[in-house]
Amino acid sequence: MRCPKCGGQDDKVIDSRASKEGSVIRRRRECLKCQHRFTTYEEIEHEELFVVKRDGRRELFSKEKLTASLKRACQKRPVSEQAIADAAERITDEITDGHEREVPSKDLGERVMRELRGLDAVAYVRFASIYREFQEVGEFVEEVHRLATLPPSDKRQMALLPDGYDEPETKEKP
Ligand SMILES: [Zn+2]
Repeated sequence: MRCPKCGGQDDKVIDSRASKEGSVIRRRRECLKCQHRFTTYEEIEHEELFVVKRDGRRELFSKEKLTASLKRACQKRPVSEQAIADAAERITDEITDGHEREVPSKDLGERVMRELRGLDAVAYVRFASIYREFQEVGEFVEEVHRLATLPPSDKRQMALLPDGYDEPETKEKP
């Protein structure tokens, strides 16, 4: 790695640390010529992964675009940048693990919905309603309808309940 200060080509790695999800490695380096310290990031290149829409159109997968749509859904919601970045990283890892060159847009949409459901109920419903407009009609639409027609009190409760939870928790006083 070329030293940004003196242009020297030799350096040593003094610290190496993986991101939380493990797909980015941060390396602290020291130039052997001028001792200047700098940081580099090593990331798996997700090259040539295409998202295939239902009508057969293909679009190059972009993590930035994915992150942007997650951010849009979480706008003004109590979801941190870090949580969004982690979600984008998880989704990217999953689809690149599961698909060689192409990922159906439905699959990508499902993973986004799953992540958003865990992050924030409002963000989830937001994304789902946009998804409904632009994507195929499916089980999500039913879920969104179901959520949208729930009375506000139930909706609030829903947001707190994890998957597969069917009975309201009753807290007994000791
Ligand atoms: Zn240097």
